[in-house]
Amino acid sequence: MYSRKQLLQNPTFQHFDKLCRIPHISGKEQAISNYLLAWAESLGLAAEQDAHFNLYIQKPATSGYERAPVVMLQAHLDMVGSKSSGENVNFEKDVIPWVIEGNTITTGGKTTLGADDGIGVALAMTVLGDKNHAHPAIEVALTTMEEVDFSGAESFNFPFRAVSLINLDGSNDNQLLCASSGGMAAEIRLPLERVTLPEACRCVRIAISGLAGGHSGREINRGRDNAIGILGRFLLQIKKMFPFTISDLDGGDSYIALARDAQAELVLAAEDISALEKEAAELEETLHKEHPITGKKIRVSLNECKEPSHAYMAEPIIMMLSLSPNGIVQMNEMFPEIAASSVNMGTARMNEGFLTLKYDIRSLSEKMGKSTYEKLELLAELAGAGCRQSTSYPSWDLRADSLLRDTAATVYRRMYGEEPEICSIHVGLEVGYFFLKKEGMDAIAYGPNRWNNHSPSEGMSIPSVYKAEEYLFTLLSELR
Ligand SMILES: [Zn+2]
Repeated sequence: MYSRKQLLQNPTFQHFDKLCRIPHISGKEQAISNYLLAWAESLGLAAEQDAHFNLYIQKPATSGYERAPVVMLQAHLDMVGSKSSGENVNFEKDVIPWVIEGNTITTGGKTTLGADDGIGVALAMTVLGDKNHAHPAIEVALTTMEEVDFSGAESFNFPFRAVSLINLDGSNDNQLLCASSGGMAAEIRLPLERVTLPEACRCVRIAISGLAGGHSGREINRGRDNAIGILGRFLLQIKKMFPFTISDLDGGDSYIALARDAQAELVLAAEDISALEKEAAELEETLHKEHPITGKKIRVSLNECKEPSHAYMAEPIIMMLSLSPNGIVQMNEMFPEIAASSVNMGTARMNEGFLTLKYDIRSLSEKMGKSTYEKLELLAELAGAGCRQSTSYPSWDLRADSLLRDTAATVYRRMYGEEPEICSIHVGLEVGYFFLKKEGMDAIAYGPNRWNNHSPSEGMSIPSVYKAEEYLFTLLSELR
């Protein structure tokens, strides 16, 4: 199939190969940023670097395009460093060892490839270095720390002129992304009311496990459920049947993942245990029916545990778990398969007399995300709990009219004889920050097919890189 030599005749693969030789995990972008600065200057281009090692490079319009509006190309310089267990790799020193496997490039499963977003940077370099294609004046924004907290894009303060932005961090060559969600983390901290333990009581641990889990953005729309939510549902149901208190509760691994398991220790009278057992068995059966694809692995198990030293009133905990918004908040008219707004009750922890719940809120519209947060705030207020938000990033709001999106779709249709998929994603992209910097921004995000980002099995399609390069040049030549 493809040989290394053949790929390296193409400028985009040449640039990608060079980038693989300069370590560039998040927070360690100085070397790659310095390399690109010197490279751009060697081509006679105006290039600047800031204190965050962001780069801003300008290339003049080609002849006949002097009056065309400036276009910005944007990609991120950093990559996630993740390696297979047993691989001895130093991401601050070592070259990324890319290999050809059939039609794809991978590292043979050793480490992340860094096509996220090295290929976006390489495509921008191809345009900057090109002498054969017509295009408007180009501004290239290369940012740092995207994979950590978007702080590069946030602090990018060069006085750019473009109002049209092509983000090169897409990962599907027939998709034009035209919106991405903003998000925030939120936390509720509920003080618990201690109760005196009854004389004769038993303690039973109920554990809900085996849910499919997944990413709180990408997989929230797949009906996989959330173990903490299920636990709340179950506690609400048995509350009507017999009294109990709660001595411990725990669920989820990360607020940005759908909770795969959750458990609680219930303190109850011995005579109510058989009713609890019956309800737990029924819940398992119900969950299997409600989740026809992943349900078989879901388990609801009961185990008697030793008598606890203390227990808390169950009602406020049940209220919090049951009334908390959790899951899809709203879908979007234009993208029926992708959530427009969601909230994930990702973790629940009980310690030092508090129940702490951590949420991931995502939304295509900033106002809708804010409204979800306000619901949490209201619930917290009603329950006498504290509520706060942290780490937020802006949404890239969908534009009803987008000249760039329309032109990109027309060019795609003409080149490939089919419609591109116009879509949004339920994760954050840096585009949201550029929308904050200037009124009236218009953007798309695009890129060649790549998969398993942030994992040692990251891969990228070779033919798709050729396609993306060809498409990008054709699109730029139409923007006049
Ligand atoms: Zn990326």
